Amino acid sequence: MAKETPRKKEAPEEMAKIIAEPIEVKEKLEGIEEVQAKESDWKPVTDVGKKVKSGEISDIEQLFNQGYMILEAGIIDALLQDLGEELLLVGQAKGKFGGGQRRIFKQTQKKTAEGNKPKFTTCAVIGNKDGYVGIGVGKAKETVPSREKARRNAKLNFIRVRRGCGSWECNCRQAHSIPFSATGKCGSVEIELIPAPKGKGLCVEKEMAKILTLAGIKDVWSKTQGQTGTKLNLIHATYDALKKLSQIKVRPEDIAKRGIIEGKLKEASVRENTVEAVGEQ
Ligand SMILES: [Zn+2]
Repeated sequence: MAKETPRKKEAPEEMAKIIAEPIEVKEKLEGIEEVQAKESDWKPVTDVGKKVKSGEISDIEQLFNQGYMILEAGIIDALLQDLGEELLLVGQAKGKFGGGQRRIFKQTQKKTAEGNKPKFTTCAVIGNKDGYVGIGVGKAKETVPSREKARRNAKLNFIRVRRGCGSWECNCRQAHSIPFSATGKCGSVEIELIPAPKGKGLCVEKEMAKILTLAGIKDVWSKTQGQTGTKLNLIHATYDALKKLSQIKVRPEDIAKRGIIEGKLKEASVRENTVEAVGEQ
């Protein structure tokens, strides 16, 4: 009993910290620009990185066609322009006034002899809104490093999304939706993405919609099962489903029928090449 009393006394201090947090974040936003400046003079370490820097690889298509691994965040910065970024709401506010509002940082604590040691988890999504997207999770003892880790991890987890139009209600042969339904799983969360007709929009949970928007998918339905309130699991299940889209074998005749495109939307000539490449597989 005597041991527990000092912990209780700490509680108001924590509360004050949490209330002061938004101001802290604003101050540190200036620091991010410095980090971005550092990224521009990027020195590649891996073979792929050196090829990208020297201009031997100028298109991200090459990376995915030849099955290279992305082990440096600089590769994505060099090859893709106009990247959109979003931090997903994976945590919730604590303390007074009910708490429970959704926040970008998930706070957890470890109890130690010195006191409570908080840790912040955050999840970033980065995409070019045209077939390439990545998701990363970062954890750190403070908010800013955890966000930087999440951004870096997102760039390392980039995937190429297969798009098309697989809806029975729509026969447009354009890549506004997905070519067939796909399922993904993480923890108890199971999710099925279902192609929807043009103009339907993203009929999915809000955090999922952010991922799908950055992936360049415009119309989709979904069906979920399990504890979807666990946002990190829901996010990973969505990422899993997007990955599975590319793992399914497609017949060459279906590529034209469903308007299947891997990655970026391109001019007609380039598209034919990829159709051939996909057909060969
Ligand atoms: Zn369509």
